[in-house]
Amino acid sequence: MYQVKFYKGDYYHRQMQANEDKCAGYVEHHFNSSSTPSAGYSVVVVGSNASQTSKNWGGWYAQAIGREFDIEVGGNNGILVGGWNGRGDGNIKYTCMPAVLLEPLFASNPQHADYIKSESGQLRLAQVLSDSIKRFFPHGGTIGFSVGHKYKESRPNDRGAAVVGGGTEADYAEIVLDKARTLLEEIGEETTQRELLVMEDGKEVWKHPIDEDANLSWDPVRGVLKIRNSG
Ligand SMILES: [Zn+2]
Repeated sequence: MYQVKFYKGDYYHRQMQANEDKCAGYVEHHFNSSSTPSAGYSVVVVGSNASQTSKNWGGWYAQAIGREFDIEVGGNNGILVGGWNGRGDGNIKYTCMPAVLLEPLFASNPQHADYIKSESGQLRLAQVLSDSIKRFFPHGGTIGFSVGHKYKESRPNDRGAAVVGGGTEADYAEIVLDKARTLLEEIGEETTQRELLVMEDGKEVWKHPIDEDANLSWDPVRGVLKIRNSG
């Protein structure tokens, strides 16, 4: 139900192609970087002309990354409209569909770099992204992916920031997008009901449909998840 298409070339060109293909959503993946090694938060840039759906999607993703990796969210509840003094805006503002520019972790933060370089960290990033797409585009469709920095005509050798310990922002962003593509293309049918999921080391081990109106509460001491269907 999802087809993923990677777009290459200069950013404007990528977006025009995604418009032509009538993508349902568009994702450009980056990692953040700072001269302060301890800097580490999750943020999503949306265009200066972003729709509310782009903002909701980006905020949902940035906050889910915050919970997944136990880190702060930046911007306004995870969202930065129009980029950093305009930087990042042109990467997404020419799209005719909801579009987000992801900055989930910092390449310059040693702990984050460990996540970025590890297979399990990459899978967790891909899982959150694929979950966000399922959430915001429940009927499926074509999803456009763009690797930040890489494959530009204008600066073909750009790979973005260096990752602590080796490698580059763009090469790891591409690995995460490839994993997200696999997860999305494995989804066979539309989810029509709210679901409860148990994950073990990144793998789904149990799934249970629950009522849309049910209340959930988790007692970590007893290890009991309670589902209340009334009032
Ligand atoms: Zn970047």
